[in-house]
Amino acid sequence: MNETAPLRARAEIDLSALRANVRTLRALAPGAAFMAVVKADAYGHGMIPCARAALDAGATWLGTATPEEALALRAAGIGPDRARVMCWLWTPGGPWREGIEADLDIAVSGMWALREVKAAARQAGRPARIQLKADTGLGRNGCQPADWPELIAESLAAQAEGLVQVTGLWSHFACADEPGHPSIEAQLTLFREMVAYAEAKGVRPEVRHIANSPGTLTLPETHFDLVRPGIAMYGISPSPEIGTSADLGLRPVMTLSASLALVKHVPGGHGVSYGHHYVTPGGTTLGLVPVGYGDGIPRHASGTGPVLVGGKLRTVAGRIAMDQFVVDLGGDEPPAGAEALLFGPGDRGEPTAEDWAQAAGTIAYEIVTRIGSRVPRVYV
Ligand code: PLP
Repeated sequence: MNETAPLRARAEIDLSALRANVRTLRALAPGAAFMAVVKADAYGHGMIPCARAALDAGATWLGTATPEEALALRAAGIGPDRARVMCWLWTPGGPWREGIEADLDIAVSGMWALREVKAAARQAGRPARIQLKADTGLGRNGCQPADWPELIAESLAAQAEGLVQVTGLWSHFACADEPGHPSIEAQLTLFREMVAYAEAKGVRPEVRHIANSPGTLTLPETHFDLVRPGIAMYGISPSPEIGTSADLGLRPVMTLSASLALVKHVPGGHGVSYGHHYVTPGGTTLGLVPVGYGDGIPRHASGTGPVLVGGKLRTVAGRIAMDQFVVDLGGDEPPAGAEALLFGPGDRGEPTAEDWAQAAGTIAYEIVTRIGSRVPRVYV
């Protein structure tokens, strides 16, 4: 792609910022290996370039949700000599054999998965690397404490048969982004107990891990052998309670901008966009920003989303439509093609993804992850 060509919209991805964020996070967890979480197309930033950048900055593991994502990393040439790859969201009939042959670390949360992975290991003629997931309180995926003894016993039996190798014991937090939340300590205590039980029975994991971004940033006692940050690597704070990205020394990686498609004069009393939820208070100029919810711009930010145009902060006027929305430029007349900056690091006075999250009543994770494939990613 010609990076200088004017584009309707672009998501600029600053890989040097991503590398700097990885180094910042690694310095906070110096004794732990670093798993870069690159699921969901690296939270919208582009999985393969972000995975490579994270590895360049010292990550040695990559984490994905689906096995298809993990296999895509391998297909892109990120081999087992370059990175361990773990994926954690399997469903019955999944690509177990391909996963084993691609040297993935396969998360197992229960007996049905263990049965399927064992059958695939028999077919592949080699053991599967499995990481047993404990539900220590998230109430989502993972093995309940009551079922843990059976999963441990059956995994050890499968290991003795040469069908699996238990490489990890791990869990995931429910409320680590809420400092002081009592569930954090409760989950940690249960995690230590479930790990101790497994080890007493003879499991020898290479890695024990539970820390996501908030754990990595604020809870050193959660780092164990490996940390698994996602959002912080992309330069975004996990929650306002933990601070802004600037407070945390992180640099936002994605800058989203669009070229104004039209600037025009309208009289006062003019309804704007579907439903006429904005009516011009007087004669003014309107700028047409050619991105909408079809590009992942949240419709919930209608009337509230911030945009920087010509050095001035404006607000979405009226409803965000599928492909476009309008800002009231208050009489300014930037030319068509002028830059509308939706979010970025904030250096130029532009809003951040965290500001958009607040405007849309959601989390910044969703803002960046939902930016759609119609918006080209431009790597810098
Ligand atoms: N580990 C697991 C299992 C996850 O599902 C996720 C993402 O939700 C992460 C780590 C990374 O979380 P975060 O983006 O909050 O750092």
